[in-house]
Amino acid sequence: MSCFNQRVLDFSIIVDTFEQMERTSSRLALTDYLVSLLRKTPTDIIDRVIYLIQGKLHPDYEGVELGLAEKLAIRAISLSTGLDVKSIEQIYRNTGDLGDTVGEVTKSKNQTTLFAEKMTVERVYLTLDKIAHSAGAGSQDAKLRLVSSLLTLTSRESRYIMKFIMGTLRLGIADYTVIDALALAFTGDKSNRPILENAYNVSSDLGTVAKLLAIKGLESLRLLEITLYKPVRPMLAERVRSAEEALERMEGQSIAAEYKLDGERIQVHKGKEKVELFSRRLEKITHHYPEVAESIQKLIKTNETILEAEVVAINAQTDEFLPFQELMHRRRKYGIKEAIEEYPVVINIFDILYIDGEDKTSFPYFQRRKLIEKATKGLKNEKVRLVPQAIVKKTEDLEKLMAVAIEHGCEGLMIKQLLSSYRAGARGFAWIKLKREYRSTLADTLDLIIVGALYGRGRRVGKYGALLLAAYDSEADMFRSTCKVGTGFTDLHLEHFYKNLKDTRISHRHPRVDTGMQMDLWFEPQIVIEVSASEITLSPSHTAGINSIRENYGLALRFPKFTGKIRDDKNPEDATKVEELISMYKRQMRSIKNTRPLPKS
Ligand code: AMP
Repeated sequence: MSCFNQRVLDFSIIVDTFEQMERTSSRLALTDYLVSLLRKTPTDIIDRVIYLIQGKLHPDYEGVELGLAEKLAIRAISLSTGLDVKSIEQIYRNTGDLGDTVGEVTKSKNQTTLFAEKMTVERVYLTLDKIAHSAGAGSQDAKLRLVSSLLTLTSRESRYIMKFIMGTLRLGIADYTVIDALALAFTGDKSNRPILENAYNVSSDLGTVAKLLAIKGLESLRLLEITLYKPVRPMLAERVRSAEEALERMEGQSIAAEYKLDGERIQVHKGKEKVELFSRRLEKITHHYPEVAESIQKLIKTNETILEAEVVAINAQTDEFLPFQELMHRRRKYGIKEAIEEYPVVINIFDILYIDGEDKTSFPYFQRRKLIEKATKGLKNEKVRLVPQAIVKKTEDLEKLMAVAIEHGCEGLMIKQLLSSYRAGARGFAWIKLKREYRSTLADTLDLIIVGALYGRGRRVGKYGALLLAAYDSEADMFRSTCKVGTGFTDLHLEHFYKNLKDTRISHRHPRVDTGMQMDLWFEPQIVIEVSASEITLSPSHTAGINSIRENYGLALRFPKFTGKIRDDKNPEDATKVEELISMYKRQMRSIKNTRPLPKS
């Protein structure tokens, strides 16, 4: 080992960076702080530093959570500070955050460590990892001991450790900020970003990408391969409004159209011994659909395979597809057996990325389809199915198939170029989604991110009155506001949002959020919901598409309404993009022009 690798990083250096990050609303500044931290970090622990900065211990797909109950955390604070539980709870009621509570309780501690020996990042990380992995009898006591041992550090260090443990460390470090910072720190130049992005798309693990880059250099990232049980970031589709437009976009390419099912996207990793299922957000969700994993193991005729598929709820009596919302019943910890009976699902395969050690993503779509047909040969109406597909040539073919798909309970069609490869993590016109028209004036619903809220009044006191929603500006990697929505919510929804948004509350506007609106509360941009609206108008206070149509005006939704769909299958970056909003606005203006009656002569 080189002496460089033997260097250690003091935990206080990470805490300095946390403090700087917490104080800024600027993305550029966040990137700069991260670059300077990465430059100070010994290469052998750089993966761990990346995870810590993003509030985790491992890549998401490993599903490792600290899982510490509030009560236990309060006991740990009591144990390490000697203050009684009641007094701590009292302070917690005022601060609303256990990290800040620790900061308050230990504020008299001086800034230099109480230990002669300084605490290293490595030791903090290993202790946190031990907490995450302690399970079974005696684990509560073990966790209590480990947490309180960490809380003997300085006040500011303990504050961040508690925030990390409780999942309230919200620094706004998105994946793309990390990629930018890595490119700058280790290649001196953001132009190498695509190589890093590609490595991330294949591995879904920024820690590994960082370590490879820091130790072996840029070239090693090009060699990173798809691996079983590590999810690949999914390929995404562009949207069009009509069958005609879809064909225009395909520019004479040969295409097929598949049913666009209204369920949950799943990436299936089948090995010799086990099957794991990952969500579109790359979380391990095998436990939601154990019977699906079992059927895959039994029915798919390859040893090692990575498949992409849509899980859809069905009516067991009629075999009809049911809407997405039905799947909510399957996201539970307990009573899975009953849920399997009561809310049956089927899995519909639409892509294959890997077979027995070989990456198939560079194969053209039509060949991948043949491979799926081979792997599912002989299956009929079982739990595992092939997505219905047809080769299409003309607009009429598409329109006819669309009507059939809608009749079968689908959302519409996915149109795919026969010669296209599978491009992990990329959105493009190799796949096009054609969704059914909704009855509202706007042709389509939008998936927007919740970024702020107003307190409720009257019947909604103690809940949120309205939510501030934003579209995603992929160029600037920002979320820009486009409406406040207050209708379409049932009491159940209101309660759900109140409970779930509480955990993402931050004290100021998030650095990636841009808006001219004043709100009572701000959130970390995390939750995506679907809204319909009557039209898009120019707005002086919303910032989505600002200056694209008229100077100093953004685009706002008129009469927005929550449709009842919480898109927790989508990351904020998968929400409707600002560019889409702009083109929807332009289309709307064109169609208004076309339908306006001719002036009387
Ligand atoms: P959207 O969620 O509206 O952006 O549409 C894209 C999603 O459609 C994908 O992420 C899949 O979950 C889903 N989908 C349904 N059927 C298919 C299909 N045949 N091919 C690809 N994606 C599909």
